[in-house]
Amino acid sequence: MEKIFTIEDMERYSRRQRSLGYSLAFVPTMGYLHEGHLSLVRLARQIAERVVVSIFVNPTQFGPGEDYNRYPRDLERDLNLLREEKINRLFLPSTEEMYPEGHATEVRITGPLTDVLCGLSRSGHFTGVTSIVLKFFSIIRPTMAVFGQKDYQQSQIIKRMVQDLHLDIKIFTGPIVREPDGLAMSSRNRYLTPGLRRQARELYASLGLVKKKYDDGERDAMVLREVGVNYLRQLAPDCLLDYYEIVDRETLQPLDRVGANGAVAMVAAYFGETRLIDNVMLILE
Ligand code: AMP
Repeated sequence: MEKIFTIEDMERYSRRQRSLGYSLAFVPTMGYLHEGHLSLVRLARQIAERVVVSIFVNPTQFGPGEDYNRYPRDLERDLNLLREEKINRLFLPSTEEMYPEGHATEVRITGPLTDVLCGLSRSGHFTGVTSIVLKFFSIIRPTMAVFGQKDYQQSQIIKRMVQDLHLDIKIFTGPIVREPDGLAMSSRNRYLTPGLRRQARELYASLGLVKKKYDDGERDAMVLREVGVNYLRQLAPDCLLDYYEIVDRETLQPLDRVGANGAVAMVAAYFGETRLIDNVMLILE
């Protein structure tokens, strides 16, 4: 697996693959890789002839007081994990490479998709995400890009950007990979103390209850939401909820009732300093 550090080398590699007629899938990550990331890499390998993974902890998507400085970084560990996955190139640009002196462009998706959920509590976060993702897209010009359903709002926003800007890139979303007890894998799980880690599993357990209630026929969003919130209140006393919402799968707007199109139950919560997110689809199977 060859590493690429500069934009120029990345562009040269991509251009060459395009001229040879190969499809190229791009998987952006912030590193400290886990099975969730690796599942996206495997999906990328299934859908494209060439796979480029990036590791870049993007400063502009962290707000003041968030964990940019202490975000876990371990390149050796990441390289070992990726060695098994047979990717074609690993793009490892420095912060200066991506944001040179004078860099002044932002890409902001306005309106309902960014005004809700994580967009409310993490002001500027999605602008940081769309700005860096578009920059990666224009450097790599992939045929497709793969994102995780764990960051469901993020993938909806990126699809919006691709549609609005007529980017010729197909967006794929891979399912959430979980720890054996159900906790969604996240680079941030390592921040949790053993006590908080035990409670964090209840996030997914609560979503499971919501899903069960939905499967049993409940369609009142308030009732579904309360099932999840009350469960967490009882079983995860140290969990501080940011939001727990039943939202439309496309628009992400909170629903009163779940209709024929189904919904997504979305949760974000603090366990100590650590903010975790998770979601589950409410659809008839
Ligand atoms: P991150 O490194 O946290 O920026 O995540 C990089 C990509 O991996 C994003 O598209 C995430 O949605 C995805 N991802 C993170 N955690 C998981 C998980 N547990 N399962 C599947 N995909 C994930």
